Amino acid sequence: MNPLENIRVVLVDPKYAGNVGSICRVMMNMGITDLALVAPHKDLDWEEARKLAYSAEDMLGQLKIFKTLEEAVADCTVVAGTSARTGFYRDHAYLPREIAPVVLDSAVHHKAALVFGREDKGLFNEEIAVCTHIINIPSSELYRSLNLSHAVMICCYELFLLANNPSYVPPAECSPEADGKMRERLYETWSAMMLETEFCEKEKLDHMMLGLRRIFSRGKLTVNDARILLGVAKQTRWVAAELERLRTEK
Ligand code: SAH
Repeated sequence: MNPLENIRVVLVDPKYAGNVGSICRVMMNMGITDLALVAPHKDLDWEEARKLAYSAEDMLGQLKIFKTLEEAVADCTVVAGTSARTGFYRDHAYLPREIAPVVLDSAVHHKAALVFGREDKGLFNEEIAVCTHIINIPSSELYRSLNLSHAVMICCYELFLLANNPSYVPPAECSPEADGKMRERLYETWSAMMLETEFCEKEKLDHMMLGLRRIFSRGKLTVNDARILLGVAKQTRWVAAELERLRTEK
């Protein structure tokens, strides 16, 4: 399987049709054809998109549209979000060149995603939270943020280069990795556990979960890892419920 075929480019809430068209073209240039839009602007000028796609118009007919980012990446293992900003929840950012082997290795056996934000506001913190990795493209402090289609090009170019490098050896053995749907189930169960055991107050939960998401994304999260972590949370919630029952029976 050509891993480039397993890579999905996800555009969150794109505003300008010209960018969507240009992105169809850069993706085809780099051999990546799975494009998904999340809640695109309702007045997107598809004719304008067609013009800029030039010879890649077919991609416009094939693109998938989702309501939420979670749905767009539900079947993806590695989900690499891009951000012009660093710091706060966006530290531990990788260079496109550093992340390329992580994405490509996963894409040999699974679906993987590159996520790009709105032209004006980028990705919101809750969208960054859905990503397993963050990519930052180094740029001049004179003007940090790149045009959306240029950012897509740089990330896809690194993947194309690596996939076509004769010294790239794809991983042979495949331990199934947890996809977006399983990861979200894991985080929901852990959130509930942390509240029910009073490990953390409701107001601090979002912050705590962002930290946990980072921890669980630091290495490869296999389906078996996720099952163990789900099991721990399930049992802990059961014990917490029993304790609560004993407390109220007294
Ligand atoms: N003002 C926004 C910039 C949005 S640019 C912000 O501060 O985030 C639109 C999108 O292009 C971004 O969401 C990101 O996906 C991509 N992008 C632009 N510049 C980038 C950079 N230097 N590194 C990584 N992605 C970048």
